[in-house]
Amino acid sequence: MSKSDNSHSPIHVIGGGLAGSEAAWQIARHGLPVVLHEMRPVRGTDAHKTDSLAELVCSNSFRSDDAKNNAVGVIHAEMRMAGSLIMKCADANQVPAGGALAVDREGFAQAVTDAIAAEPLITVSREEITGLPPAEWGQTIIATGPLTAPDLAEAIRAETGKDALAFFDAIAPIIHTDSIDMSVCWFQSRYDKVGPGGTGKDYINCPMDKDQYDAFIDALIAGDVTGFKEWEGTPYFDGCLPIEIMAERGRETLRHGPMKPMGLTNAHQPDIKPYAVVQLRQDNALGTLYNMVGFQTKLKYGAQAEIIRMIPGLENAEFARLGGLHRNTYLNSPQLLDGRLQLRSRPGLRFAGQITGCEGYVESAAMGLLAGRFAAADRSGTPLAPPPPTTAFGALLNHITGGHILSDDEPGKRSFQPMNVNFGLFPPLEPGTIVRPEGGGRFRGKDKAKAKKQAHARRALTDFAAWLGQPDLRDAAE
Ligand SMILES: Cc1cc2nc3c(=O)[nH]c(=O)nc-3n(C[C@H](O)[C@H](O)[C@H](O)COP(=O)(O)OP(=O)(O)OC[C@H]3O[C@@H](n4cnc5c(N)ncnc54)[C@H](O)[C@@H]3O)c2cc1C
Repeated sequence: MSKSDNSHSPIHVIGGGLAGSEAAWQIARHGLPVVLHEMRPVRGTDAHKTDSLAELVCSNSFRSDDAKNNAVGVIHAEMRMAGSLIMKCADANQVPAGGALAVDREGFAQAVTDAIAAEPLITVSREEITGLPPAEWGQTIIATGPLTAPDLAEAIRAETGKDALAFFDAIAPIIHTDSIDMSVCWFQSRYDKVGPGGTGKDYINCPMDKDQYDAFIDALIAGDVTGFKEWEGTPYFDGCLPIEIMAERGRETLRHGPMKPMGLTNAHQPDIKPYAVVQLRQDNALGTLYNMVGFQTKLKYGAQAEIIRMIPGLENAEFARLGGLHRNTYLNSPQLLDGRLQLRSRPGLRFAGQITGCEGYVESAAMGLLAGRFAAADRSGTPLAPPPPTTAFGALLNHITGGHILSDDEPGKRSFQPMNVNFGLFPPLEPGTIVRPEGGGRFRGKDKAKAKKQAHARRALTDFAAWLGQPDLRDAAE
């Protein structure tokens, strides 16, 4: 421990939501004092309604609790293994919801608030923090969420740069690569451009003839969309219009925009010029996910999946996430944060929760748990290595701090998009780890996909247990 880092001075956590409450709890579990600064009820947000810590602003579901087959269930299991306060309070306030973990929202938030109040090492300070924390605070975690108060957001923006903090997300659907039909689609960059770091075959292209395009435009125009909340405004800006709005502006608009066929030759039918082409770009370093270029949308999830599966080659598309446009304050984390959630320009200042570019209650709490453990370990002079990317925690952390790739054809634009945890973020499985049907026979139907998920889940939980238990994981990994 450095001499200037007095272990008796508290670690500060700003924001008492899902991430901040979990971070404060983890720090206290490490025997260190912590001040949790929460602005409610002094100042409210547009979505919170109470002054409870860890208030759930919308649904009361923590989603799937199936740790054998679902990545969200796996992250639940990892959080329980790591002594998560959020999971303990969720389990204690569960309501019936089939395979999902849903909670009595008031009981849950009250349980978190009571546990934090009863913890002698945690002081809750009800105040708005309006600027970056002073240097003398030392280890600090900012976990102020998608609705970070404007003054603090501006201060973060001033520190990180104009384009480094977004106030809306504009998310195009992201698809599991192995669900794309490559007997219909082909790899090619427009005009075979190689670009920096490219090969000339960087995009997956889906061809459409005129009838298919017309049917697609009709479906887009007729599709059900979700509205903006009153306080969100309508944040359409250039280069970011939802596809259904482009289609409404003119039937040919998309064919002259993101679906233009120029510079592309269908490798399966070189003599037939496609009328329109949908392009997908690699979304993670592993190549397991591709995003639909220029396909940000406000279509409702059900309609969205149905309409996208009209695209040739995407009939069986499995979505890692569907598109959306929301008010959401989040950092361009891969550029700004190191592998342990610290601001590169100011080590010791960490971010956690949805502001880092994860999405969802559970994922936000998970990143709070990690930030709390990293800060406590640093304060104790025994820096902690990140969990391996084969775990749900590690896969999500990897997405946030480095897994995405920059867009090569849109200089200056952000390509990092907020993400829920999903198996597409996990590194490929080692050969032989998928359990074959009894007798070593062939897989039927969706059995192979199921066996693959189960192998991911098994590997994640084994590796997470090892990460938690290993006493010599002391290297500060960048
Ligand atoms: C309208 C809306 C609906 C959503 N619906 C869902 C859903 O159904 N399911 C789901 O999984 N996720 C949903 N989300 C995402 C959800 O907000 C996050 O998943 C989760 O709450 C994020 O956790 P967090 O701890 O990062 O932020 P939050 O839980 O929002 O916590 C941030 C805390 O910081 C406080 N704060 C902000 N600025 C300051 C400041 N300057 N000083 C002090 N305190 C401050 C806030 O009061 C708040 O308590 C929704 C988000 C929004 C905005």
